[in-house]
Amino acid sequence: RGKAGAEPVIPFNLPESRTRVFAIASGKGGVGKSSMTVNLAAALAQKGLSVGVADADIYGHSIPRMLGVEGAPTQVEDMIMPPQAHGMKVISIGMFTPGNTAVVWRGPMLHRALQQFLADVYWGDLDVLLLDLPPGTGDIAISVAQLLPTAELVVVTTPQQAAAEVAERAGAIVTQTHQKLAGVVENMSWMELPDGSHIEPFGSGGGKTVAEALTRDIGAEVPLLGQIPLDPRLREGGDAGVPLVLSDPDCEASRSIRAIADQL
Ligand code: ADP
Ligand code: MG
Repeated sequence: RGKAGAEPVIPFNLPESRTRVFAIASGKGGVGKSSMTVNLAAALAQKGLSVGVADADIYGHSIPRMLGVEGAPTQVEDMIMPPQAHGMKVISIGMFTPGNTAVVWRGPMLHRALQQFLADVYWGDLDVLLLDLPPGTGDIAISVAQLLPTAELVVVTTPQQAAAEVAERAGAIVTQTHQKLAGVVENMSWMELPDGSHIEPFGSGGGKTVAEALTRDIGAEVPLLGQIPLDPRLREGGDAGVPLVLSDPDCEASRSIRAIADQL
């Protein structure tokens, strides 16, 4: 807790920390990282785990809306107390910017914001911390690797081959950062039509392609953790601030998300 010397202490890096940290990454934007983050977080919380969510997508923050966070962070001594939503502790730069103003920062500021999320927020004794990353291998991904060397990456892709190629690069960052890769999630894999038939609007095979390519790249098994169908209610849940795994735990999308949470 707090600061020692010049570098702020990140409690998740202390040897006694029992918190598992997962960073939700992707090559492209719009593949469902934030949706997966909030639904996986809610699924883990449903299992009785103590869960924190840090919105590391500083420019494109969307977590407060997707979790329906209402309160604002408060300050107690030198710590930031994060607001809670659905029993989870949540922090996002969106809670510190008035209205819907844009964050226009260069790399060092992004790094500092992230450092504060990790060192100055009172997370308590979490079982799991999920970080919602921006797409790609830019400043934030590098900062997360530096600030949280033990964070495990979950790579989200769509079934589309073009998306898969970009996702592989996002995952292969671990060959340089030496982080662990927890696995690959394929989102938007298929959609059920009203007549019960299935279509694949984004093609097929992307998740498997990425998992196999990353397994080759890092020389260790990278599992395809699961495939999530397209379900308009998943988007609606994001807009309404209630993750689908909470509002309809028995639908197919929720069951596939829970199955992924069980493997983490
Ligand atoms: P990212 O964080 O990777 O940019 P988002 O989670 O914001 O992606 O998802 C992009 C858009 O797609 C959002 O409008 C979201 O509600 C929607 N979406 C994501 N996954 C699904 C899904 N499985 N079914 C339906 N809509 C989805
Ligand atoms: Mg996002």
